[in-house]
Amino acid sequence: MPADVANTSRPHVVIVGGGFAGLSTARALAGAPVRITLIERHNYHLFQPLLYQVATSALTPAEIASPVRGILRDQKNATVYMDTLTDIDKTTRHIRTESGRDFAYDYLILATGARHSYFGNEQWAAHAPGLKTLDDAMELRQRILIAFERAEMETADRERRRANLTFVIVGGGPTGVEMAGAIAELAHSIAHDFRNVSTRCAHVILVEAGDRVLPQFLPALSQRAKRDLERMDVDVRVRTRVEQIGEGYVVLNGGRLATETVIWAAGVQASPAGQWLKAPTDRSGRVIVNADLSVPGHNDIFVIGDTAACTPAGAAKPLPGLAPVAKQQGEFVGRLIAARVRGRRAPDAFRYRDFGTMATIGRNSGIADLRKLRVSGLLGWLLWGAVHIYFLIDFRSRIMVAMNWLWAYLTYQRGSRLITGLGQSTQGGHDGSESQDGESGTAGWRGARGLRLGSAG
Ligand SMILES: Cc1cc2nc3c(=O)[nH]c(=O)nc-3n(C[C@H](O)[C@H](O)[C@H](O)COP(=O)(O)OP(=O)(O)OC[C@H]3O[C@@H](n4cnc5c(N)ncnc54)[C@H](O)[C@@H]3O)c2cc1C
Repeated sequence: MPADVANTSRPHVVIVGGGFAGLSTARALAGAPVRITLIERHNYHLFQPLLYQVATSALTPAEIASPVRGILRDQKNATVYMDTLTDIDKTTRHIRTESGRDFAYDYLILATGARHSYFGNEQWAAHAPGLKTLDDAMELRQRILIAFERAEMETADRERRRANLTFVIVGGGPTGVEMAGAIAELAHSIAHDFRNVSTRCAHVILVEAGDRVLPQFLPALSQRAKRDLERMDVDVRVRTRVEQIGEGYVVLNGGRLATETVIWAAGVQASPAGQWLKAPTDRSGRVIVNADLSVPGHNDIFVIGDTAACTPAGAAKPLPGLAPVAKQQGEFVGRLIAARVRGRRAPDAFRYRDFGTMATIGRNSGIADLRKLRVSGLLGWLLWGAVHIYFLIDFRSRIMVAMNWLWAYLTYQRGSRLITGLGQSTQGGHDGSESQDGESGTAGWRGARGLRLGSAG
């Protein structure tokens, strides 16, 4: 065991979550006289901003995720456990994990991110998966690719073929816009691979309840994004409410539409840190933190990233759930703890340095608002690509992603269009019985449906 980790006289910093916030805290404490335990329920750090590219077959999971253990390999004061936090005892300063282990802490950092919110319609989740984890992305990839396969096999029933080629994305924020653009591009790029169906006829519908897509951008940039989406044949429907989602359909503003693929990109709910801590939260479940990101009444517990509601002095609303916010908060808390354990004056308030926001729509089309500079089109797209490659966690991923993008740009092809995990359900489909997975074991369920269609056709 490295000396740094074994040295139990050093204060113990327990970090939960190996996302942008948790990892940057650990890294900021690299040289500090502390023992760090990082607990992450997966064995990898995920670069969420590129998840939609896995969901639409442009990248593979390994290109946007790296093992946490590998990232912290050379940081001798850090130990990584693949485990899940389940409970916190603030009185005895212990946390409990799913594996039944207890960890005592001197400092606790909760950086457990967020998940989807269906605004009280949790029953929609089975029909309209969201995009938050690598499993979500694989699931969506599966659904999208199977929809094209089923359309190819559906030679008799035009309505069902149409439903298979209809993709509804709910939510006009960056994830919804990126998904809509990427599915439209995918449909065009695979057109020559199909014989019975023209995938170019895919109907990609982006639904937004508000009056414009990308509402966090200036109206002119939103307008530009909408125009670019429409140029790619995306049907952008603003001021449109989703009223119902069920098996094979959605109801939009009172009208029922047949579709086999609905993607949820509308709502976010923070991880249950507020419940673990029994601390006040905002409407999205984010813990309301002090200016230094500590939990009121507990200067040894910090909540950061997507789990925190941090409203800087003078600001009207809390900082948004963005990767740079999470990273900077992690660095801040790392510096604060390092200063305290060294007996130095700790910084008193977190200040966010906002370098701007950007989003991509599709090939040659992106928008970027860099405060003093606003760009769109090809320049916005190039800038978006460069920034995302730069922020990928390791060198290998940067090279792989850059090569993949270049190849896709030159050939219009998508490299990872594999449908996997259907083995068990294949039999369910042939004999007409339901997959054992049921609706939540999605790959099996969808595989069975696909094959049932095949045997019928
Ligand atoms: C599809 C998508 C696209 C996005 N695009 C952009 C973008 O273009 N630009 C941008 O700035 N931001 C983007 N974001 C937002 C950005 O990814 C988040 O703001 C950022 O990831 C927040 O970092 P975090 O560390 O707080 O949470 P996360 O990165 O979500 O990390 C939380 C970690 O905690 C772990 N965890 C959760 N619960 C537990 C538990 N109980 N025990 C142990 N571990 C646990 C999770 O497995 C996860 O690894 C996007 C998000 C999504 C989902």
